[in-house]
Amino acid sequence: MIRDLAIGHRTVRISKILCVARNYADHAKEMGTPVPNQPIFFLKPTTALLLGGGTILIPPESMRVEVETELAVILNEGGRDISSASAMDHVAGYSVFFDITARDLQAKAREEGSPWTAAKGFDTFAPVSEAVAADPDLDPHRLPIRLRVNGAVRQDSNTNQMVFRIPQLIEAASRIMTLEVGDVIATGTPAGVWPIRPGDVLEAEIPRVGTLRCTVAARNR
Ligand code: MG
Repeated sequence: MIRDLAIGHRTVRISKILCVARNYADHAKEMGTPVPNQPIFFLKPTTALLLGGGTILIPPESMRVEVETELAVILNEGGRDISSASAMDHVAGYSVFFDITARDLQAKAREEGSPWTAAKGFDTFAPVSEAVAADPDLDPHRLPIRLRVNGAVRQDSNTNQMVFRIPQLIEAASRIMTLEVGDVIATGTPAGVWPIRPGDVLEAEIPRVGTLRCTVAARNR
């Protein structure tokens, strides 16, 4: 599996994939869950990566897999207890990210009070687009974010709707765990998460960051 991501003139090896739950108020509402008062993080394994897009495989364990479109931040420098004031110095660039979720397994985990590892962690459940380098002229908190499934618009929002912005996310995450070069932080999804099926074509776009295109197939054993 490929883990090396080119960002401008450099290449980083993706280290960990940190995701944020319910970071857009309209998505929290559609899930019937409250907006958290501090960021809620979970991890995906790097084996879930699908660099540059590709084919998302629906596992037989799930009857309902959904796509969430997110802005991902890639770090150029790690650290712990990073302050929000200096957090943006740690950002190498940005990508478009799909947080693929087995929603039925997540609902079951919620009911049982068990972790989301299965719901979020299957192979191919973390597609990432090519990256764009961070740039003072690129404000990551003012970007349209869109998803089309088979040509129909299903998510259409703006990163200005994030509850916790990137500096706060880096500060909060780095208090829990040491962040490292190549870490990916997926910043959460707006409303409109959509069920996917074999044969679907997913196309996401964040202007100035990139596009991410995936197809969907059933996973065979
Ligand atoms: Mg998500």
